[in-house]
Amino acid sequence: MIARSFMMSMEKKPLARKTIQNINPYIPGKPIWELQEELGLSEVIKLASNENPLGASPRVRDAITASVANIHRYPDAGTWALRQKLAAQLATTPEQLIVTNGGDELITLVAETFLEPGDEMIIVSPSFSEYEFGAHLMGAQVITVPLDNQFRFNPATILGAVTAHTKILCLCSPNNPTGTYLPKSDLQYIMDRLPKHVIVLFDAAYSHYATAADYTNGLEFIREGYPLIVLQTFSKIYGLAGLRIGYGVASEELIRSLLKVKEPFSVNALAQVAACAALEDQEHFQLSLQVNSQGRDQLCHAFEELGLSFIKTMSNFVLVELGSQAKDIYEQLMKQGIIVRYGGTWNLPHHVRISVGTKAENARLIDHLTNLSRPRA
Ligand SMILES: *Cc1c(COP(=O)(O)O)cnc(C)c1O
Repeated sequence: MIARSFMMSMEKKPLARKTIQNINPYIPGKPIWELQEELGLSEVIKLASNENPLGASPRVRDAITASVANIHRYPDAGTWALRQKLAAQLATTPEQLIVTNGGDELITLVAETFLEPGDEMIIVSPSFSEYEFGAHLMGAQVITVPLDNQFRFNPATILGAVTAHTKILCLCSPNNPTGTYLPKSDLQYIMDRLPKHVIVLFDAAYSHYATAADYTNGLEFIREGYPLIVLQTFSKIYGLAGLRIGYGVASEELIRSLLKVKEPFSVNALAQVAACAALEDQEHFQLSLQVNSQGRDQLCHAFEELGLSFIKTMSNFVLVELGSQAKDIYEQLMKQGIIVRYGGTWNLPHHVRISVGTKAENARLIDHLTNLSRPRA
């Protein structure tokens, strides 16, 4: 008897929660080393993950080297030094800031803090895939609102998707992968009409690159008391993607709730000193901006010459339309050691997203693209 019931219990398996069946694996840009190994190439250019092509500030390297002696100690769970620096720079209080293991951790924390099963999260499409991950993790419903045919936000359509079950509205500006942004007046329009039970996750990961006069990074709305959580990251302009550090800005009350679900040591010690050092190097920051705006012009000028249409971008990447050959061109570029991002993951099979690189990297991409996009005989 014992043996038999044991056998029967063996046939059952511990079941993973149903909701995780909805989670699609994140598809990262192919790492440089992987393509090098695959193709035996020594020189590979990665223009696929919107990283800073200059790398991190030299001050970051010095700060990390100096801190290595202390890596046997736990990191500061309160990320105090960094929050003080950020608060001074952003004109917030340190209590309005939460430092996280990349912006990605903030997205998960927001989902864990606010979503009950059956709640709804509104996302615009196409956009960053991690919002959906957070919703599915919590058994919430994802409601998708399309951008218009030029990938602009339509505030009325977004508001039209709000129901009594809506908990979170995700807005990414400049938006990844389109590079388009939500003008300040449109955010104002949305915030003034949003019911009180909805919180906005305003993803400003690319805010530093935005130059439009009517761009907002969301902070002024927090100051005015609107229920926004602004996401920021050190992975893009600050060049620290490999260290995993980002932060959120919101009211002190919202930050207290988010802190309840956060693991105390998710932000490691080297990431904390690196972020502090990165904030101090204004020169590297300015140089990074300059390289980006020149590189963006270089790329867009070349796309025009090639007769390729692309979306005007406020960011450090460009969404380019390559037509039905897009996937083929993407694969050909890969064979030549140039990694860009294929649009298929966003349901944009005729597009690729190209991150702005250094002048030399952009030039090499343009050369190859010129050869590939020529009509074949
Ligand atoms: C890169 C990115 C983030 C944050 O990335 P982390 O590396 O986790 O800090 C957040 N949102 C968007 C849209 C991004 O592209």
